[in-house]
Amino acid sequence: MQRTYIKDLKDCVGKEIVIKGWVNVRRDQGKMVFMDMRDVSGIVQCVVLPNNPAIETAKETRTEWVLAISGIVNKRPDKNIKAGVLNGDIEIEIKNIEVLNKAETPPFDLTEDGLNINEEVRMKYRHLDLRRERLQKNIRLRSKLVDLARQFLFKNGFTEIETPYLSKTTPEGSRDFVVPSRMYPGKFFALPQSPQQYKQLLMVAGFERYFQMARCFRDEDLRADRGFEHTQIDIETSFLSQEEFMKLDEAMITSIIEGLGYSVKEKPFPIFTYKEAMEKFGADKFDLRTEEDKKNGILALAWVKDFPFFEKDSEKNWTFTHNPFSHAKPEHVEWLLKGENIDKILTSQYDMVCNGLEIGGGSIRAHKPEMLKAVFRIMGYSDEQIEADFGHMLQALASGAPPHGGIAHGVERLLMVLTQEQYLREVQAFPQTSSGRTSIMDAPSDLTQKQLRELGLEIKKKAK
Ligand code: ASP
Repeated sequence: MQRTYIKDLKDCVGKEIVIKGWVNVRRDQGKMVFMDMRDVSGIVQCVVLPNNPAIETAKETRTEWVLAISGIVNKRPDKNIKAGVLNGDIEIEIKNIEVLNKAETPPFDLTEDGLNINEEVRMKYRHLDLRRERLQKNIRLRSKLVDLARQFLFKNGFTEIETPYLSKTTPEGSRDFVVPSRMYPGKFFALPQSPQQYKQLLMVAGFERYFQMARCFRDEDLRADRGFEHTQIDIETSFLSQEEFMKLDEAMITSIIEGLGYSVKEKPFPIFTYKEAMEKFGADKFDLRTEEDKKNGILALAWVKDFPFFEKDSEKNWTFTHNPFSHAKPEHVEWLLKGENIDKILTSQYDMVCNGLEIGGGSIRAHKPEMLKAVFRIMGYSDEQIEADFGHMLQALASGAPPHGGIAHGVERLLMVLTQEQYLREVQAFPQTSSGRTSIMDAPSDLTQKQLRELGLEIKKKAK
């Protein structure tokens, strides 16, 4: 008999059905056994009535066993109806139970939100942890969000293009993850902190509108909203002005947010200069919601632009505030090229803020080689160093690069705002633990002597 999804049982009253799924909760009442069965679509109460031969198997089963249950869908007596709950007015009278697989006792309760369970344990058994309703919802919401982004972008003439993971280090202000090369012992690839240079190269290549659900790797100290890996809706376009680009991106974010059923406080999003934001809110991330908005789950989005291009680092050298590949504001290009008034040069960077969190950032880029060169000169690079590190970009910009610009939106950040989750791990299927280890699989881990030899590596001091 064909399997029926639990969500569809309401249309099967009086009929014989087969459901397949997990035992969510089981209550053995001696003569009768109740089981709440769970599948991908919902939960339903099942009961083995007295004197039914299936009672033997029902008594053996435990939570998280995988069963195929055949039975009859019955209306519940009026007094047992649970209003407003899926299948609250029906139950399955079990005729037969087939055990598809047994399960060891789960290390934690899967019927609760799981927020109070030790993180290491949750991540070790992430395949079980993910069974809980909250995480199922979050991960499915993530899929819908990505789908809505794709729908918008395809409708607006974008091409989805993948860029390499094995690449060269690129300055995004964080530490690289590196991968040793077997063919070139002693040399290393870097995993991309973002596809920044590749997406610009795709503009030079004439693709005009690119996007990618881009995995980014950053070896930084982990915090609630930071993991080693995160995903960005990564976008780049050619020939659009800053205003045109911001409008297009705003339309995408709006279509995602509204497509997921949320409301936006103000459209078009208010725009603040960095100076205005600092004066008004004392920060470049701020929350424009009233208490009432918060209660109603409204999302308050805004743009911040006109950031300073440079700031001094801890060694008192100039460094970029956001992105070295940005175009200076047109009226400050002269200063940039001459290396004058460095503290006053503003960049074409724009950040998107939502409910106090930054949910995107991008810029119009330097599309002429001398502009990019000027940025690195200000940062104290010698011409040789610039050539060695960015010669490929300078060459590309010198080969008819169109004016271009783009943005990246952190998928996890966006989801955290939408779900009000406090931790990135609640919106990623297999996140790292806060101590920097992978979920389920035991990594980082040792290499064999053979692997080390092939890579030309020797481990000097073994970490405990
Ligand atoms: N590459 C930038 C980032 O990862 C985003 C951008 O400017 O498009 O933050």
